[in-house]
Amino acid sequence: MEKLVIVGTGCAGLTAAVYAARGGLNPIVLEGRQPGGQLSTTTLVENFPGFPEGIDGPELIMRMKSQAENFGARFRYAELTGFEPKAGYLSLQLDDEETLDTRTLIVASGAAARWLGLPNETKLIGHGLTSCATCDGAFYRNVPVCVVGGGDSAAEEALFLTRFASKVYLVHRRDALRASKIMTARVLEHPKIEPIWNTRVAEYLTGEDGEMRAVRLESLATGAESELAVRCVFVAIGHEPNTKPFAGKLPVDTEGYLLKTRGTATAVPGVFAAGDVSDHVYRQAIWAAGDGCAAALDAERYLTEHAEEPGGELAPIPQELVAA
Ligand code: NAP
Repeated sequence: MEKLVIVGTGCAGLTAAVYAARGGLNPIVLEGRQPGGQLSTTTLVENFPGFPEGIDGPELIMRMKSQAENFGARFRYAELTGFEPKAGYLSLQLDDEETLDTRTLIVASGAAARWLGLPNETKLIGHGLTSCATCDGAFYRNVPVCVVGGGDSAAEEALFLTRFASKVYLVHRRDALRASKIMTARVLEHPKIEPIWNTRVAEYLTGEDGEMRAVRLESLATGAESELAVRCVFVAIGHEPNTKPFAGKLPVDTEGYLLKTRGTATAVPGVFAAGDVSDHVYRQAIWAAGDGCAAALDAERYLTEHAEEPGGELAPIPQELVAA
């Protein structure tokens, strides 16, 4: 029986791992499909306190991971596929067919990029369609590209892409960005970026080689259609929380984010949530780190309060959540 399993290796999961390992909980940290979370696909992080010159996202993550390992956190490449609350413990199913039993769980599985839902979208990923400028921007030198979205991610991607692309179109469904003022100003002032307002991407158009060659645009103001030649489309329209293994077992809010009851505790005793999987308000690396710290402290307190003593009472689990 493990004391603590942490799901996710973004800012929240790794900070929880540092605190929990240092606190002697000997946690197992599950690294899923995107180790390092969203910071692993970010360039310069300028607003994480303590790094006045900024720090690359992957480097920040790597440092957090080695800090957790120094305190004894164990890392395992496995994805959580199922979760059953039992009486007094939690049973976790992993994609390698193994089961892991644990007294407490910190869910820090983050959020994944959203897509437009157009035909052929899945097939085109990697062939001129991506959600990560940092990963793929350098492949598109001296050619036109477009970014879809109007938030900070879209602004950041567009600015980053100006290093490579000959032209960056920013296609947004409204006539104003929701990005922060400073990012909006940088985007609007950049000579290589051309915003296309009140417009949606209606279709991806490919060449004979199967690679992106253009998009069909539809004006949401007039309904007029046009074709825009671009070699890559960078979709930056937000994220969805990674809560699949917990469907029907952990309560979520109207947008699908895990609900917390008190501090980082969820409705199931012993289960805590931290970072973007439970937050669509702040969504910042430093906030996720703080939340991961809180979850580790909450898990530690829970274990102290519910120590397994012979004949001792285990935490009650809501009956509707107990697996048959
Ligand atoms: P976001 O703020 O939710 O913005 C998503 C954008 O995509 C919005 O402009 C939205 O349009 C548009 N959109 C959503 N669904 C769409 C669809 N189906 N078709 C077309 N457009 C669609 O997401 P985000 O930009 O990923 O940012 C998430 C959070 O992280 C924010 O709090 C942001 O401040 C933060 N962040 C910060 C930084 C930084 O500080 N350096 C960098 C990146 C992200 P509407 O505007 O019409 O809703």
